[in-house]
Amino acid sequence: MSESTETIFSKIIRREIPADIVYEDNLALAFKDIHPQAPVHILVIPKKPIATLAEAESEDHAVLGHLLLTAKRVAQEAGLKNGYRVVINAGDDGGQTVHHLHLHILGGRQLDWPPG
Ligand code: C5P
Repeated sequence: MSESTETIFSKIIRREIPADIVYEDNLALAFKDIHPQAPVHILVIPKKPIATLAEAESEDHAVLGHLLLTAKRVAQEAGLKNGYRVVINAGDDGGQTVHHLHLHILGGRQLDWPPG
């Protein structure tokens, strides 16, 4: 693994730092965001350290599909019956701060559109 793909999320996957984990399987991990922007704010990440969506390759298609299905499952399990939003921030203009691909699941309130 290159230095650039080693992030705080790698440490969460390896249980080296704490996180409130709500789901895990062989490909993905989901945990509550430490700075929630909505009543429900959960991150879904691949265990493979893909830095950003912009660096995903065609060989990653199965894991990318799995992340979306995991987001659906986690949202259902969080009780988001009235809807939710799934966000991927990619790169600097996208507001990405952690360089390990992650899906934000946001719900539990009416969300604004467009985002800022
Ligand atoms: O999309 P972006 O890269 O900005 O999102 C990173 C997210 O990771 C932030 O919402 C931040 O609160 C969250 N985070 C976390 N636990 C950490 C470090 C960051 O939930 N230990």
